[in-house]
Amino acid sequence: MMLLLFGPPGVGKGTQADLLQKQYHLLKFSMGDILREEVARQSELGLEAEGYMKQGKLVPDKLILEIAEDYIKKHRSENLLFDGFPRNLAQAAALEKKMQALGLQLDLAIELVIAQETIIQRLALRRYCSRCGAIYNLQSAPPRQPGICDHCAGTLLQRPDDNEETIRRRLQTYETETRPLAEFYQARNCYCRVDASGNPQQVYQNLIQCLNAHH
Ligand code: AMP
Repeated sequence: MMLLLFGPPGVGKGTQADLLQKQYHLLKFSMGDILREEVARQSELGLEAEGYMKQGKLVPDKLILEIAEDYIKKHRSENLLFDGFPRNLAQAAALEKKMQALGLQLDLAIELVIAQETIIQRLALRRYCSRCGAIYNLQSAPPRQPGICDHCAGTLLQRPDDNEETIRRRLQTYETETRPLAEFYQARNCYCRVDASGNPQQVYQNLIQCLNAHH
């Protein structure tokens, strides 16, 4: 199975991807996670990507497509869940071409949908574990001990791009660059839209319903 998850920043993509991954034994391909690892390693790629990420802009397609093509080639025989890639029409077209060349087909592109104000509130309260990447929300899913990860005792941090100004920029980028993916996948009959305004379990139920309806 090949699935793709997209939605504005803070919609809960990462959380839903983790749930899906466990239930369906999918390999999650998170472009944001890969980029953040590269930034942390201060690799050549990381240094190039960092500036764009800090400003809430998309990293240039050339870099993104190199990462994606490598990854897909390496993991072509697995069930993949694309999280945060593609993020614009050029990337979607490149992914389609690559998959066709490898004899692969996308089963479903799922868009998570939510009101902007809810996103801004959520992102300001988001924290992540600097060691294992677990995601928390200080209000709806706080850690047992403030600032410390429940799973690995790592330190919880706020992403540098989770400040209000960058959040607004990322939302704008989403509207202009990424939203058009909905039409792209609609035209290919493999699109569904999921209401992501509830708690993670409710959203997951909506998501499963939509998956079942398309399978
Ligand atoms: P995310 O963790 O998915 O919110 O991604 C964090 C940041 O990484 C984004 O704001 C972009 O700057 C960059 N990024 C992630 N995925 C992509 C992509 N497919 N294309 C371009 N930039 C990306």
